[in-house]
Amino acid sequence: MRVARLVGFMSPLKIEDIPEPKIGKGDVLLKVDTCGICRSDWHLWRGDPSLVAYMEWSGGKLPIIQGHEVFGKVVEVGDNVESVKIGDNVVMPASSTGDFRTCPYCMNGNSNVCEHLVIAGFGIDGCFAEYMLVPARSVTDLVKVPKGIKPEWASITGCGFGTAWNGLVLKSKIKPGDLILVIGAGGMGLSAIAIASAIGARTIAVDINTETLKKARELGSIGAYRYSGKINELNSVLNEISKVYGVVDVIFDGSGNPDAVAALLPALRPQGTLILAGLMMKGKETIPLPADLIVAREINIKGALMLAAQHYEGIFKLMSEGKINLDPIIYKVISIDEVNDAYNEMSEYKNSGRFIIKKF
Ligand SMILES: [Zn+2]
Ligand SMILES: [Zn+2]
Repeated sequence: MRVARLVGFMSPLKIEDIPEPKIGKGDVLLKVDTCGICRSDWHLWRGDPSLVAYMEWSGGKLPIIQGHEVFGKVVEVGDNVESVKIGDNVVMPASSTGDFRTCPYCMNGNSNVCEHLVIAGFGIDGCFAEYMLVPARSVTDLVKVPKGIKPEWASITGCGFGTAWNGLVLKSKIKPGDLILVIGAGGMGLSAIAIASAIGARTIAVDINTETLKKARELGSIGAYRYSGKINELNSVLNEISKVYGVVDVIFDGSGNPDAVAALLPALRPQGTLILAGLMMKGKETIPLPADLIVAREINIKGALMLAAQHYEGIFKLMSEGKINLDPIIYKVISIDEVNDAYNEMSEYKNSGRFIIKKF
């Protein structure tokens, strides 16, 4: 089967043919239909420390097949598999149980923070491949996708969209009329905007990419602000937001730029919520936050890591009712041979939304 493997940080992924994985008792084999390229795949490719730490903690090592936003079809099941059958279309949430849902977090419905977390493309081989093996300990977290959902949309629920859902719906409990400031409108930030619009909340987007901001508008953002990447420009963005909209209820960071988060934090209302969902880059892992402001306004700070399989209810319904439209988030559909071109484009932040691998 054709795969794209990470053989060394910052080196091109190796596109090669290797034998298909053999399943054992309780395992499931997926034929990969569609696979998103997430910014965190790119972070691991760069060798950014938190991602490398994840890989090592979860038992992964190079060479590894990357990719964790998978929509695929079950083509083989091992003995004792009952939760899915051959022919089912499924998503494997990017962070899935690694212990059959037996740890306290999994048992409370939060297998995205499982004590034995499995992340495809980090701890196990991922979906930049024609076939992907789901280990027995994670099979219970496979989420069935109803007919009629676009494969591209389903695949990004595994990580980018899932994290946005987790941050806004589960962690912030947003409601109609709320105002959300989205910093970094990539695949995840645009997903956050699509979700907020579906719920009847309003959004303001801040990004460095003009095309991305156009898409934010298309998805319903009432304000869109560009800055060139220079942090001092965010002072005037903050002033403008304060003047036009006052304060916001939630800040959703999908940029992973700690300086941008710190600069825009004063836009958050008392008892508002800051959701950190973007991963930080090498040398930028610490956020310099104004502690007095956090105390004075009783600000909540929460992390959001993908979406537990137990919390998918509602998503595919909203999609099938046409309330969530993810088409603007799909940037380019490519073949596996083009994955290194995609990484190069991502390195220059040229892409507005997700690259999707469709041909293997
Ligand atoms: Zn991801
Ligand atoms: Zn667990």
